[in-house]
Amino acid sequence: MKLVFLGSGSAFTVGSNNFHSNILLVDELNNNLLIDCGSDIRFSLHKAGYSYVDITDIYISHLHCDHAGGLEYIGLSTLFDEKCDKPNLYLSKDIGSTLWSNSLSGGMGIIEGDLADINTFFRINSIDSDGSFLWQQIKFDLVKVIHVDGKYLVMPSYGLFFKIGENQIFITTDTKFCFSLLEKYYAQATIIFQDCEISINKTPVHSHYNELVTLPDHIKNKMWLYGYQPGTLPPAKKDGFQGFVECGQIFEL
Ligand SMILES: [Zn+2]
Repeated sequence: MKLVFLGSGSAFTVGSNNFHSNILLVDELNNNLLIDCGSDIRFSLHKAGYSYVDITDIYISHLHCDHAGGLEYIGLSTLFDEKCDKPNLYLSKDIGSTLWSNSLSGGMGIIEGDLADINTFFRINSIDSDGSFLWQQIKFDLVKVIHVDGKYLVMPSYGLFFKIGENQIFITTDTKFCFSLLEKYYAQATIIFQDCEISINKTPVHSHYNELVTLPDHIKNKMWLYGYQPGTLPPAKKDGFQGFVECGQIFEL
């Protein structure tokens, strides 16, 4: 089993050195689960030697474009390619209820000769916000994190916690720095992939390096950082982290 970081950059990463933080989990039989599908997925898949043909299962953590903006590419490409089955799409119920109406219907609602809905393109696997789903006998628990607090409405994202062999893996997806909420997952995990921005002007919607560096050493030393902006990276290894994930980096699990 391997985890391929198709990209490890932030939403507005520009240039050919990195892509959106979308991850491909590949098993020994070459079954693939794509964890988030951003708007540059066609480029990042191509660079890693894959294409839409390989994408049979997709998990979406939330509806920002760097996580869900590539679904039009995958949906339309697979629908009109007879080699492809309809991809499975795993997502929490709240995200599933708005994905079509708020994000996809504009570009995908009308196809030649017919009207379409989300079931035209994907097999939907709707998950409770504290639920889980199975893929290739692996159980993925959803971890609800706080991403954007709009005062009246909160946009959550759903991280993933799962076990492969002796590895207990926690992928935060986009999240504010929220130690009290995530402490138990940080404690249980043997390897953590943590959203981390590095910008001088800190945003309120991501975990910043300057916050993460205050975590205890026993957490930092199992933590890989991703989702960062272009620019000079802080000395993560010196500060006790595993490091910053590079674009294309592969983790054997
Ligand atoms: Zn986001």
